[in-house]
Amino acid sequence: MTKTHPSKERTFVLIKPDGVQRGLIGEIIKRYENVGLKLVGMKMLVPDPDHVEAHYTLDPNWRRVTGEKTIKGYREKGLTPPSEDPLEITAKILENLKKYMSCGPVVAMVWQGAHAVKIVRKLTGGTEPLTSDVGTIRGDYVLDSYQMSDPDNRAVRNLIHASGSEEEAEIEIAHWFSDSEMTNYRMVHEEILYDVNLDGILE
Ligand code: GDP
Ligand code: MG
Repeated sequence: MTKTHPSKERTFVLIKPDGVQRGLIGEIIKRYENVGLKLVGMKMLVPDPDHVEAHYTLDPNWRRVTGEKTIKGYREKGLTPPSEDPLEITAKILENLKKYMSCGPVVAMVWQGAHAVKIVRKLTGGTEPLTSDVGTIRGDYVLDSYQMSDPDNRAVRNLIHASGSEEEAEIEIAHWFSDSEMTNYRMVHEEILYDVNLDGILE
């Protein structure tokens, strides 16, 4: 990956169908705008299940890692996981995610700015809404849990997907956007966020 100036870091964010249905598009965008990030790509679409599967399996380790994480989560709660095979667990999660993510329109976005990946993850909150911190988007706007979603054989409804690392961001952006769908532009407030000398304010 070519390293650019840190203020140009980009991340991929998807408002999932429940976020759109809950009328939270504006609120979610506002959170990322408020912190100082710049929106450089945005579109609404209904993704097909194959596109969703490809999104989650862009990382060849995702099936194994997510399966292991899920098994660990069950054990930590003193529960027996539905299977000891991580890949079997993830196959079910993936089926549920494909159904969930393709059930209606989503809003795909690319946000740019200093530490875009980490800042967006911080504002978004942890994956499972039950334990997402108060003050994060998931903590403030949704109440689902694996305890609710697993027995009903559905994906946990957590409003948003956000890239977990710069590497993930790069491949996810390429998966959802073409170069021509992205806009490079300057924003006035970048001056106060990033300018070194701040010598253009006083008249
Ligand atoms: P994220 O990066 O915070 O979105 O989380 P992951 O990449 O680890 O997981 C992606 C999706 O997989 C989540 O949105 C959930 O739908 C599902 N998932 C992840 N971990 C678990 C788990 O422990 N149990 C269940 N049932 N689903 C999970
Ligand atoms: Mg992830």
